[in-house]
Amino acid sequence: MIQVHKFTFNPFQENTYILSDESKDCVIVDPGCFDKSEQNTLSKFIEDNGLNPVKLINTHCHIDHVLGNNFVNKKYNLPLGIHKLDLPTLSFMGQSASLYGFQGYELSPDPEYFFDEGDIIKFGNSELSVIFGPGHAPGHVAFYSKADNILINGDILFKGSYGRYDLPGGSFEVLKKTITEKLFLLPDETVVYCGHGPETTIGEEKKSNMILMG
Ligand SMILES: [Zn+2]
Ligand SMILES: [Zn+2]
Repeated sequence: MIQVHKFTFNPFQENTYILSDESKDCVIVDPGCFDKSEQNTLSKFIEDNGLNPVKLINTHCHIDHVLGNNFVNKKYNLPLGIHKLDLPTLSFMGQSASLYGFQGYELSPDPEYFFDEGDIIKFGNSELSVIFGPGHAPGHVAFYSKADNILINGDILFKGSYGRYDLPGGSFEVLKKTITEKLFLLPDETVVYCGHGPETTIGEEKKSNMILMG
């Protein structure tokens, strides 16, 4: 059974997730740890719990979600996996950093593999299926476990709200389609872990999410 551990890092208050199961293998999703103390928080949690990181993956490559990619890549010797269509987002990291005034950050390594809709990401005794969900970023994906009823959805859905669509490669129409024609088809009890803010469920968002008014 997958356990989800959440950390909130960097000035964007981005949620980084470690997914682990009884095998102690774990996957690190969207490491946003920026400074030494945030990096230590992440690595200390891994050590204290005897976890074995086996994968480094991004839901999408906005700067707040990739600030810790280099740290995780080097420390645990993990190649980065993303959706191919988010390569332009990743290559924008340096410009984004100067735009937002970040200093002393480490550029993300290049991805070494890509995943796409329907791919299965395995770790320990668990698996996640990849849902392609553009609109907020062109190569945005969500990671879904049917067995454990969880969705790691990055910046697609937020509790009551949804991700920005005005950034490069974004589109309101596409985002709305992703949410209403893909994510809302998942079971109501699916717990949605967001890239910012608290968790929610598909059932709750189907009733009241702001995207339904748009
Ligand atoms: Zn984003
Ligand atoms: Zn974000």
